[in-house]
Amino acid sequence: MGKYDFLIVGAGLFGSTFAFEMTKLGKKCLVIDKRNHVGGNIYCENINNINVHKYGAHIFHTNNKKIWEYVNQFVEFNNFINTPIANFRGEIYNMPFNMNTFCKLWNISKPEEAKRIIEKQKEEAGIEQPRNLEEQAISLVGKDIYEKLIKGYTKKQWGKNCNELPTFIIKRLPVRFTYNNNYFNDRYQGIPVGGYNIIIEKMLEKCDIRLNVDYLKEREKYKDFADMILFTGMIDEYFDYKLGNLEYRSLQFKNEIFKDIDNYQGVAVVNYTDENTPYTRVIEHKHFEFGKQKGTIITEEYPINWERGKEAYYPINDEKNSKLYHEYLDLAQNEKNVIFGGRLGNYKYYDMDKVIEESLILVRNFKG
Ligand code: UDP
Repeated sequence: MGKYDFLIVGAGLFGSTFAFEMTKLGKKCLVIDKRNHVGGNIYCENINNINVHKYGAHIFHTNNKKIWEYVNQFVEFNNFINTPIANFRGEIYNMPFNMNTFCKLWNISKPEEAKRIIEKQKEEAGIEQPRNLEEQAISLVGKDIYEKLIKGYTKKQWGKNCNELPTFIIKRLPVRFTYNNNYFNDRYQGIPVGGYNIIIEKMLEKCDIRLNVDYLKEREKYKDFADMILFTGMIDEYFDYKLGNLEYRSLQFKNEIFKDIDNYQGVAVVNYTDENTPYTRVIEHKHFEFGKQKGTIITEEYPINWERGKEAYYPINDEKNSKLYHEYLDLAQNEKNVIFGGRLGNYKYYDMDKVIEESLILVRNFKG
């Protein structure tokens, strides 16, 4: 029997939610993380009084009232609504795909006109049942939008052509025949006032924490620390990749600090949708919190190939990888006293609300 009830590997949103709930139930939790901070990818670094989303833009959104109330117990949320714009070779379009986009592209004003154009383009492409992202995109928004706003961006984002990618990725984005630039359809949306770190710090307030610990390199040392382990890292790495690699997409970020520019791009997120601009998007962090600071900070986001040793950001949930994941899942289910969770542990392209939801389900299962 270890000193702790739970050893939680990874101090991201999944592990921290689990730790918070278990601590409330009187369990002792040790949370370890290989980074030098808690929070996983929602961690923000405060630079010049601006919360910089260090591992990519995170905008909290959910349709689940319970999850919304859950996160609001830790922090207040502001009324930020994500309304990114797309820049295609200097042409600016509103996102997601809505009447503002259609109006600018085709010089039309009525929903029926937009629907007619999309229908015609879909017919010309001869698509009935979309089999991949390209066909799915053309069926939803037509060829013109596919060519200007989806094809290049998606290729950069995933390192694959759209006809090699699963349809669900593009179905994340709303298509609307109203003049509404809200990137999400969810009822609740916002950014924590004061930044995301507040949530994690509150969640972990009553746990023991050790940073700069790479569990997989120190398994032996930690094997008797707790009765149960929650592992939120990569499931294939946990098993030393013995069935082969799952595929991931990684990212690199390049920050630029401007002392003399207070407002660089006028919006938090600009997507560069052509194939040649090497980054997918530019984030101007202060806009997430309606910042009035002097100066500004922007981050260019570069998708890169994942290889062992690099940070895994996105699981590639296509057929081939899903099959391999299920083989790893069989191994995981036979692993005594270890449970797997989170985007990497479950190998799922989860949004933040889903991460919390899944973590709470796990807690409930424990309670029985
Ligand atoms: N996408 C696109 N053009 C854009 C934005 C997104 O084609 O300007 C596609 C792309 O394939 C991307 C997917 O839509 O992977 C989902 O986008 P989302 O913004 O949800 O991705 P995330 O923020 O999770 O990276």
